Formats: sequence, C-alpha cells, structure tokens
Amino acid sequence: MNFTYFNLHPSILEGIESMGYEKPTPIQEKAIPIILKGDDLLACAQTGTGKTAAFMLPLLSKLAAEEHDPMFVNTLVIVPTRELAIQIDQQVEGFAYYSPVSSIAVYGGNDGSNWDRQRQALERGAEIIIATPGRLLQHIQMGYVKLERIQHLVLDEADRMLDMGFYEDIMTIISYLPEIRQTLMFSATMPQNIRKLAKTILKNPFEINLAVSKPAENILQAVYHVSSTDKLNLLASLLSKKDLVQSAIVFASTKSEVKDIERKLRGMDVSVMAMYSDLEQKQREEVMRSFRNRKFQVLVATDIVARGIDIEDIDLIVNYDVPADPEDYVHRIGRTARAQSDGVAITFVSPEQKRRLATIEKFLGSKIFVVIR
Ligand code: AMP
Repeated sequence: MNFTYFNLHPSILEGIESMGYEKPTPIQEKAIPIILKGDDLLACAQTGTGKTAAFMLPLLSKLAAEEHDPMFVNTLVIVPTRELAIQIDQQVEGFAYYSPVSSIAVYGGNDGSNWDRQRQALERGAEIIIATPGRLLQHIQMGYVKLERIQHLVLDEADRMLDMGFYEDIMTIISYLPEIRQTLMFSATMPQNIRKLAKTILKNPFEINLAVSKPAENILQAVYHVSSTDKLNLLASLLSKKDLVQSAIVFASTKSEVKDIERKLRGMDVSVMAMYSDLEQKQREEVMRSFRNRKFQVLVATDIVARGIDIEDIDLIVNYDVPADPEDYVHRIGRTARAQSDGVAITFVSPEQKRRLATIEKFLGSKIFVVIR
C-alpha cells in the first residue's frame, strides 16, 4: 500500500513525498481512514510507530480540503512535554509545507518573551495548536484563545500525561471546547485510568491496538553485569570505539547522577552534554539541536528525553542503571533503531539491580543477552 490509497489532499501528499515517506506504517494504515471518516479513535501505540503522522496527516488533509476561518483554532493537540510539542510542530511544518496551515507550539517554562510570542500568535489566530496542558490553560484563562470552533482534539501520550498529574488540567481545557468535535486519544499503555478517561471524552471510538509495549525487533539488547564502581570505565571503553559509536545516549535515573557522569566523561575527553529537567528551555533546545547535528558524541540524560523524542541514527543506548519501570526501559531503548535502522541497547546491571532486570525480562517475555557476567 502507498499513501495515494487514502485519498489525502494533493498538497499533503506532496508534503509526505518531500518528507521521504514511501509506505504507511501499520498504525497509519489503520488510523488514517478512521480519522478521515470523522470517527473518534482510541489508539494504543508507542512513539516510533509513526503515530504523529497517523493523526496529523488526515487532520491536515481535512483542513486543506474544507472551508474554515483561519482565525479560529481548528485542531488542538495536547501533549505531555515541551519537547514533544516542538517535535510535532516541526513535523506539521513538513507535512503542510505545500498547504497554507498555521500551527504553533505552546509550552511552559520559558522566559517572558516566549510567553509574549505565544500570546501574539494565539491572538492572531492559529489553525493548529500543539500544547502542554498547564501553559495552554494559562493562555485560555486570559481569554484570547479562540476555541469555540475547534473540530478536532488529539490527546497524545495520554498515559504519560496522567502519570504527570495533568488530569484536572486536561478536563478543564476540554470544558472550554465544543461538545461536537472529533476526539483522538493515543496512549502507549491502556491502564484503567486511561480507559476511564477515554469513556468520558470519546464518543463511540474505534479502537486500534498495536499495543506491543515491546521494543522493536531490530534493537540488539544486551546486559553487562558490573559493579557500580566499574560502570564508568566500562562506559568509557564502549564509547571509545568512535568509528562504531558516533552518537550515543546514556540514561541515568537521577539528575545528580547525570551531572556526575557528564563531568567524569568530560574529564576522560569524551565529547558529551547532559540533559535534565533543571535546564532552561533555551538550553534544552540547544542541547537537542547540537545532538541532532552531531556536534557532540554522547548525550547523558534522565528519562525526560526517553519518551517522544525523535532523533535518527543513534547507534547506542546505554542504561547506566536499570530503570525501575519496564515501560521506561522500553522507552529508553526505543530511542535507537528508529524507523528502519538498527540499534544497540546495553544495560549495566549492578548486583543490587538484578531484581529490576528480572522484572523487565518478565515484562518483555524473554531474557536479555548477557555479555559480561
Ligand atoms: P513517531 O512514532 O510519530 O514518533 O514517528 C517515528 C519516526 O518515524 C519519525 O522519525 C517519523 O518521521 C518516521 N515516520 C513516520 N511515518 C513514516 C513512514 N510512513 N515512513 C517512514 N518514516 C516514517
């Protein structure tokens, strides 16, 4: 199957072509016809499956085909993190390159000028808003966001948003929206609270389940049993093979550990930057941009970058510690082997972390290959 099958607007097909997509992914095959028809959708799918295009392409196609007033918001996408908001906004720019659609990413934690820029854009009118809940609500409560003609609402990474405590904000935002609208909900997992939220806000939804909360098969996963004190040297030796490892992410659970690893690697002459929640928004964007552009070899990060962030061609993921939640493990290692390429994910397991490894293996339904015991 190719994208012409769906009857998308020609300008969007051109956008898809310029993005270099040849074939729809499974979630796109299933979701695009449902969304084009106007039905509500509850989809269980992880990042890396192509879910952004799965909802954005049909919504953009409708926007391009249907008459509407560009001064009013037509589509609202609510996401858990600013990184994801920016990333979706960038994809929209690509898909909509040949159609005159205005979109804006709205997220918190910036300086005043960013607030003003968002405010001005919202006052001028944007057809698509991609927003984190808290900041969007602040703008809405100032009274200038034109929500009364919204036709489409998307909740992306809904499980993550509930984990982050956004339930109330989401429900308040929805209380400002027209009752008659199309609502799409994407979630990597389907726990009870997600089902309940879906029942409250979706009408007769179609369900798509690509749930496999399992890593992609083209990721080579391996375990090193290593004491905490030997981890750093082991890491340095893995990273020293620069021809094999041009781009790597090292995950650690705490900010202090991330900073510590960054400092020590730098001391060993590794080109490295760190990413954690204390950084200013500007700094975070700068780090991500430099990493994308291969300005440095190693990104050390907490789980904030594990979800939703889309960087291609990462050769190696190292879990410096074993994440407590198997879902976090899947998200961390999913940063490699994006789309069609292969990747390697190595987990350092110190003796006191063996239990966590066992939990992850149970979740995966298979043992991870052990390189060093
Ligand atoms: P997502 O799950 O939306 O985070 O997308 C994961 C990655 O797959 C992104 O880099 C997309 O640009 C890419 N992608 C999405 N759909 C396709 C497609 N049909 N063909 C090739 N790459 C795609």
